[in-house]
Amino acid sequence: MTHILLCELAAFALYFVYGSYFEWFFHRYLFHSPKYIYRTFREHTLVHHQIYKGDETYHTHDDHPAKVPMDWWALPAMVGFHLPLFLLVQHFTKIPSLWGGVAAISIYYTCYETFHWAMHVPKASAFLSRFRYYRFLDAHHRVHHKFMLSNLNVLFPLADLTLGTLRGADGRRIVLFPKLRADRSKEIEKAKHAKKPAHTVKSP
Ligand SMILES: [Zn+2]
Ligand SMILES: [Zn+2]
Repeated sequence: MTHILLCELAAFALYFVYGSYFEWFFHRYLFHSPKYIYRTFREHTLVHHQIYKGDETYHTHDDHPAKVPMDWWALPAMVGFHLPLFLLVQHFTKIPSLWGGVAAISIYYTCYETFHWAMHVPKASAFLSRFRYYRFLDAHHRVHHKFMLSNLNVLFPLADLTLGTLRGADGRRIVLFPKLRADRSKEIEKAKHAKKPAHTVKSP
């Protein structure tokens, strides 16, 4: 029994980390690109981001603000979408992990929705604002409303940090391993110059 519980807890932690990357890809490609599902792009980029910008419009003082939460069926849809993956992983690894996965996705999504609502509706954030992590996330999301393709995580910005889309509260880019990146850019520049054909000297 203890073994099963420990496996499910470990699965919960791993799937929660995965949630950061799922959130990132979902936000980047379904919310901020019209190529895949136009409706989610329209509702998010053309409506949510147009109502709530990175200035004083970031907060609404309406008790029932429009276009902040996702559709009511988004949570069952997310869990349903992931169920085959969780079942396959459990089947092939023989490690009890299904319920850890379901709990991770459900809790990740519920926290995402609660936090995002509180970020745009200050009246709803009285309790959460006591926590430093929430205040950090609030500033992080405000920057997303200024720079749409940065700070794509609302809840757990691990994917922003590792995929190069993180900006601080002042809007400056935060780069993981800046020295490695600078060296890599130099190598790319060198390779580009090396590929250029040598100048040919025209004969008179
Ligand atoms: Zn928002
Ligand atoms: Zn967005």
